[in-house]
Amino acid sequence: MLPSRTSSGPDIFFYNTLTKKKEKFHSLHGRAVKMYTCGPTVYDYAHIGNFRAYVFAEIVRRTLEYAGYEVKQVMNITDIGHLVGDGDSGEDKMTAGLKREGLDLTLSNMKMLAERYAEAFEEDLKRLNIELPFTFPRASEHIPEQIAYVETLIGKGYAYATKDGVYFEVGKFPGYGALGGSASYDHARIAHNPEKRDMRDFALWKFDEKLGWEAPFGKGFPGWHIECVAMSTKYLGKTFDIHTGGVDHIAVHHNDEIAEAEAANGKPLANFWMHGEFITIEAKRIGKSEGNAVRLYQLEERGVSPLAYRYLLLTAHYRQKMNFTWEAAEAAQTALNRAQRAYREFPAEGGRIQDAYREMFREALYDDLNTPEALSIMWNLFRDDGISPEDKRATLYDFDRVLGIGMRPVEHIEAISRSSAMGPLVIPPEIEAQITEREEARKAGDFAKADKIRDSLTQKGYSVEDTQKGPVVRPI
Ligand code: AMP
Ligand code: ZN
Repeated sequence: MLPSRTSSGPDIFFYNTLTKKKEKFHSLHGRAVKMYTCGPTVYDYAHIGNFRAYVFAEIVRRTLEYAGYEVKQVMNITDIGHLVGDGDSGEDKMTAGLKREGLDLTLSNMKMLAERYAEAFEEDLKRLNIELPFTFPRASEHIPEQIAYVETLIGKGYAYATKDGVYFEVGKFPGYGALGGSASYDHARIAHNPEKRDMRDFALWKFDEKLGWEAPFGKGFPGWHIECVAMSTKYLGKTFDIHTGGVDHIAVHHNDEIAEAEAANGKPLANFWMHGEFITIEAKRIGKSEGNAVRLYQLEERGVSPLAYRYLLLTAHYRQKMNFTWEAAEAAQTALNRAQRAYREFPAEGGRIQDAYREMFREALYDDLNTPEALSIMWNLFRDDGISPEDKRATLYDFDRVLGIGMRPVEHIEAISRSSAMGPLVIPPEIEAQITEREEARKAGDFAKADKIRDSLTQKGYSVEDTQKGPVVRPI
């Protein structure tokens, strides 16, 4: 059945962890969608497993954009942490990062460490052709907002202080654990604090007289969940459309975010909760101790480009467990090369998007992001003798709005200025078309044509800089 169209846009179905079923997507504000993605703790370099979570979140976003929505995505950067003994994560990664690098435990060192890894993270996102979010708010830059939430929760009777911190009282929030998962088990692992009223109670704030931020209830550090609540609601409002994360966030982090936000605000935090499954490497969980925390550049060293890794991720549905093998990665590179080579041989001019293929492509994506099916439709199109090469090219160019595997020029969008109110830079389609044309002229060695197009872009108010990774375009 083809997706039907209504005045509010096509029907899109997403699996909602909150209701445990596929639900028709509807946004709170017409064509505007607000989406929050739990981002990294920047205590070390991200490994290829982490990027599965961000490619998944970006496919949610690109699919909605393909359907005509404007998506405001926010991704936090957790750059502080001091929850030793509080089982939110079982360890404080930022402190561990400082120790690992032989740095003194100070806030400024924590910030320095965090910014180094945040920068590396952003670079890797770009290499994966991930559209950057509207903003990457830092937890350390939103302390007053977090303190305000803790104060509200204390004021409303949902929180209490112990000797080592302020805790959320789970027993006061009847709907606790709405997302499911084994939260009570995870909380049970938390170091025992005899002052806690319930094993499941979790820290909103941990006291520390030496290091941390001053707060009315005592100097210290915020808990991880309150960071996300404070930053998501600051940029997206008290209730927003979609909250994404990895499946490991469900049981504790997201159940706790829901409890905090809904107790404080009296309304749902997000309508759709979406979670990406994990990837293993050679059937083992990814981790430092396993010695397989492979980074993107290590794939490149073995001849697998970031785009090929992106392609590989799209071959599995985001809710399926996936296993990375080097053979599969190499096969993804071969497939991508074949697709890109065939695409480049199709004439660039005069093609028309094939509606039947576009409908099939939409149908796959709008059915809870069936990217494996979307890729198989792409391959069917390549093979279809009934479609002219120029029409194939036009249709593939359209598909690449979602797939992002290099049919369109890669990395020509310097997407967002960090933490600014400027909002995303939107490149008009005719400018994009000129950038593509110029790239093709350059590749073909026609530099006179490339220069002419650059002049025309300058006149229209865009500068083009040719970098190793491709053209970067900015408004002048
Ligand atoms: P962390 O830095 O550990 O908080 O993880 C950052 C993100 O990566 C989270 O969204 C996790 O869900 C996700 N993640 C971590 N390991 C994997 C993995 N092996 N496969 C997929 N996602 C992962
Ligand atoms: Zn979060």
